[in-house]
Amino acid sequence: MTTLRMYGTAPESIVDGPGLRFSVFVQGCSHRCPGCHNPDSQPAEGGYLCEVSDLVHQIHQNRLIHGVTLTGGEPFEQTEGMLELARELRAEGYNLWIYSGYLFEDLMAGHPHEKAPELLAQCDVLVDGPFIQDLNSYDLQWKGSSNQRVIDLPASLKEDQVVLWRQESLGFSAPSSW
Ligand code: SF4
Repeated sequence: MTTLRMYGTAPESIVDGPGLRFSVFVQGCSHRCPGCHNPDSQPAEGGYLCEVSDLVHQIHQNRLIHGVTLTGGEPFEQTEGMLELARELRAEGYNLWIYSGYLFEDLMAGHPHEKAPELLAQCDVLVDGPFIQDLNSYDLQWKGSSNQRVIDLPASLKEDQVVLWRQESLGFSAPSSW
């Protein structure tokens, strides 16, 4: 049984990806971006502990949710726990978005964890890169600064290069727990 160090959850989010989503905010992020939207989530020792199975149970409670967003904090600094959660949710048909301050290319190279590529393979979309205050705009969709990329993961893994996500590539199916 794997435990995650959590900052919190948003059981009905409309700002962390398309549709009504359950957002999982992990605790701990070493990027320390100036102007971070969630500075209290940065210390690695803060937050609270939660079993992956408890999170899955919480997500199952709302039958209107078909998308889950993994964010924080830095999800790839808890790759093992995130991977267990993502595998379970993907097997049930949830649409998965993940945010990271790391770049797609670095994650694919196994940084900061050798299993980062496995976690990417479980997700539909990655929003990558650090938040850069000077590049911030409220006109941007699903990201805080223009350096960040909203990446279609299945297409990028298939073509072995970054393919940007487009709204029409969204495909929902009902989770098996429905
Ligand atoms: S990567 Fe995100 S959570 Fe981490 S410091 Fe930057 S803005 Fe904050």
